Amino acid sequence: MKKIQMVDLKGQYSKIKEEVDNSVLEVLDSTAYINGPKVHEFQKNLESYLGVKHVIPCANGTDALQIAMMGLGLKPGDEVITADFTFAATVEVIALLQLTPVLVDVDPVSFNIDIEAIKNAITPKTKAIVPVHLFGMCANMEAIMQIASDHNLFVIEDNAQAIGATDTYKNGTKTKAGVIGHVASTSFFPSKNLGCYGDGGAIFTNDDKLAHIIRGIVNHGMYERYHHDVVGVNSRLDSVQAAVLDIKLKRLDSYNSERQNAARAYNKAFEGQAKIITPTGNNGCSGICNACDCHVFHQYTLRLLNSDRDALVKHLNDNGVPCGVYYPIPLHRQKAYLDERYNEADFKVTNQLVKEVISLPMHTELDDEQIKFITSTVISFINT
Ligand SMILES: *Cc1c(COP(=O)(O)O)cnc(C)c1O
Repeated sequence: MKKIQMVDLKGQYSKIKEEVDNSVLEVLDSTAYINGPKVHEFQKNLESYLGVKHVIPCANGTDALQIAMMGLGLKPGDEVITADFTFAATVEVIALLQLTPVLVDVDPVSFNIDIEAIKNAITPKTKAIVPVHLFGMCANMEAIMQIASDHNLFVIEDNAQAIGATDTYKNGTKTKAGVIGHVASTSFFPSKNLGCYGDGGAIFTNDDKLAHIIRGIVNHGMYERYHHDVVGVNSRLDSVQAAVLDIKLKRLDSYNSERQNAARAYNKAFEGQAKIITPTGNNGCSGICNACDCHVFHQYTLRLLNSDRDALVKHLNDNGVPCGVYYPIPLHRQKAYLDERYNEADFKVTNQLVKEVISLPMHTELDDEQIKFITSTVISFINT
């Protein structure tokens, strides 16, 4: 059996090596390292893939979130509601801009931001909601967009984990994750579903005016050469990364189906296991049915009931199976984000999930033999 990895970047690269190497060498030869034609080409291709008017590439997914918030003109003291159960980048940029993060609980089934919790957190100072499409599946965007329109709030989608996922509204309208809110951010960190070979990120929007503002912000607030109209940042995707991304974008749907195939095999192996809750899609389905295609499995995350999760982590590692705990500590209990207004009783689900979740290896190169070994190692442990 091939050695099991949490993410197998080498295996994936080996299948596209020649194409990637040639394209990267072309960039090196062109010397157009920053803002070269490759970046523009990738931007256009991603716009058409997503069905969005503007993609603005930038240096990483954290910058993308920050720049989106800057572009919307959010001001110190504005309250921004986001999920307690996510990667810290989401809350970090809110705090960095001196906005006030308002963390709220998540839904136990989808792991995404809880709709009632959002409603309860709204105050006259609330300016924006940042749903995170956690582990590869959209938050309940239909409900979130409704709340936003009722209260005149911006919606910034943190789409670092769900590029390529589809969101289906009740009337059947289908949209790609990241093009539903007013603006969205994504990350091209190597292990993401669309990852480059370094850092990278992008902002998406259908709003022409906002896109213009953001294009200036990523480039030192310049709209005309050496005229600095607003305070900006330096955040660029380089041409080498764009060359890699353009090649991988053509394969994104097939990469995502490979992840879905792995998820399907995991689900099947865990069927009937009373101590395991497998991931669920947005419409009460498995997330992998042809009807909605809502889950692209950035992570395959189980909830473990009445078992010692940490002991399972150790057991898996001892048996050569890598795994992850995303995330072991709720953001509201992280030192950097403590806030006396928070009440533990408002974070019941997150407090539970941090004890129960475990993410199994998930990537495009998993084979049946590996999945069989992983699942039997999990099952034998929880049933002893
Ligand atoms: C990865 C990630 C980010 C940050 O992306 P970087 O490119 O690493 O800066 C932000 N939010 C979420 C949910 C992520 O998973």
